[in-house]
Amino acid sequence: MEQQVVIITGAGSGIGRETAKLLATKNKALILVDFDERSGQDTLKAVKEHQQQAIFVQADVSNSQDVRKYVDAAKQAFGRIDAFINNAGILSPPTLLGDLDEEMFDRVISVNLKGAFLGLKYVLKEMEQQQSGVIVNTASAAGIQGQPYMGGYSASKHGVIGLTKTAAIEYGPSGVRVNAICPGGVRTNMTKGLETGPEENGPLRRLANPNEIANVIAFLISQESSYMNGAVVTIDGGLTS
Ligand code: NAD
Repeated sequence: MEQQVVIITGAGSGIGRETAKLLATKNKALILVDFDERSGQDTLKAVKEHQQQAIFVQADVSNSQDVRKYVDAAKQAFGRIDAFINNAGILSPPTLLGDLDEEMFDRVISVNLKGAFLGLKYVLKEMEQQQSGVIVNTASAAGIQGQPYMGGYSASKHGVIGLTKTAAIEYGPSGVRVNAICPGGVRTNMTKGLETGPEENGPLRRLANPNEIANVIAFLISQESSYMNGAVVTIDGGLTS
């Protein structure tokens, strides 16, 4: 079987880094994308312990020129894009909607929603031409229910689910599958310093480790999930049940 070529955004930390490390052990060619040069290079170094077919591209997912840069880099290095893990995202400091800064709202929407859209826009074109491909968009439990004090974030992730379902319908006939994952709380840099009690973490009474999300992503880009398209997969320990 041909080696799968996989783009991961937000690969410098948390879920993205853990997914990169896991996929490196599964012999995938990797294009690691992150805004932060140093953390992206760190992930590349970790990945190279298992997989030489890997590059890092510094890019801001909310900037269309940068998005074209990582898509072009993937094609130039490996000739095609088999899987796209559309994962980069940010959280704004918790606040009531009435106190949420307009600029902060714009920033969260720009990275989480527009960034996801731009990635889809350019990667779907490639996959349509190839007549194959698989995409995993990182939404959130906050994308299927309201999240107090995180109104902008919750809105952005609801939007990611809208994009996922639409892309699944539009591109399924071209042999492209598009699914979303909705993690609950995950122990990453994003949640560092956010105090949550065990009750708030749902029935399993703990945050997820990033590898518990990476395992599901690996499944969703594999042939084992070949009939999954347009699915919104919760990985939240039952938080939203
Ligand atoms: P993280 O902060 O550990 O990692 C996010 C990475 O994305 C960082 O390396 C950061 O530099 C990068 N990034 C941020 N803005 C970027 C931009 N504009 N362009 C390129 N890269 C950018 O966070 P994480 O927890 O691994 O989050 C990954 C995804 O999972 C996000 O979409 C997040 O919303 C989602 N998520 C996280 C949790 C959680 O509890 N941690 C829960 C549900 C969903």
